[in-house]
Amino acid sequence: MSFAAHIISAYPDMFPGPLGESLHGRALADGLWRIETHDLRNFGAGKHKNIDDTPAGGGPGMVLRADVAAAALDSVTTGHDDLPVILPSPRGVPFGQTLAHEWAQGDGLIFLCNRFEGVDERFIAARQPLEVSLGDYVLAGGELAAMVMLEATLRLVPGVMGKLESGTDESFSPANDGLLEYPQFTRPQSFEGRDIPDLVTSGDHEKLAAWRRAQAETLTQSRRPDLWADFVKRKK
Ligand code: SAH
Repeated sequence: MSFAAHIISAYPDMFPGPLGESLHGRALADGLWRIETHDLRNFGAGKHKNIDDTPAGGGPGMVLRADVAAAALDSVTTGHDDLPVILPSPRGVPFGQTLAHEWAQGDGLIFLCNRFEGVDERFIAARQPLEVSLGDYVLAGGELAAMVMLEATLRLVPGVMGKLESGTDESFSPANDGLLEYPQFTRPQSFEGRDIPDLVTSGDHEKLAAWRRAQAETLTQSRRPDLWADFVKRKK
């Protein structure tokens, strides 16, 4: 069974978008994953199919109605009640490589993408989606957040990336001890007076592995003291 990405959005035409290109596009064409979009507007309320309304108690912007969100989600979860339901949100748990690895083991994901100021809190209480944040900044909607999470997850789905190694031995991965990746080089041998370090092309695999590991540690220590502290704690 291929990995199923369900997208609930008022802008379904945004998908697959960038996920239809390159590695992910090929994998989509090859049937390694599939995408189903569900237009929020089909679940709108009343004659005008409204999906949002003004915030109760006042305030700027509009809020996605709880009944509309629930009707849209229920139409997707019927038959797919085993798939995680993700609500992209700046107040969610931070997205990261660990979640991507976890999701990639499963059969798919359901994303509810909203715009406006957010969704009626009673929808969240009633359906308990997993709120996930891309980072400490505010986007205009959940669609790009869903694409980012899907892109990171799908490349770890078996078969999507040609060589599975490239999905495990890289930045943040358990196989890399959660460290940042070592520096990469390719042709030409000399670029504007800078040569590829001799050791990298020496053919001594043991020395190269030790050098890469040392580079990964130095980089992580200087650029990401938070990751470095986690690494040191785990090593104890
Ligand atoms: N008023 C909200 C922000 C709404 S932004 C607040 O202050 O928290 C509109 C929508 O974009 C959000 O409901 C969410 O679906 C999406 N979004 C915005 N920033 C995001 C982020 N950092 N991560 C994931 N989704 C985000």
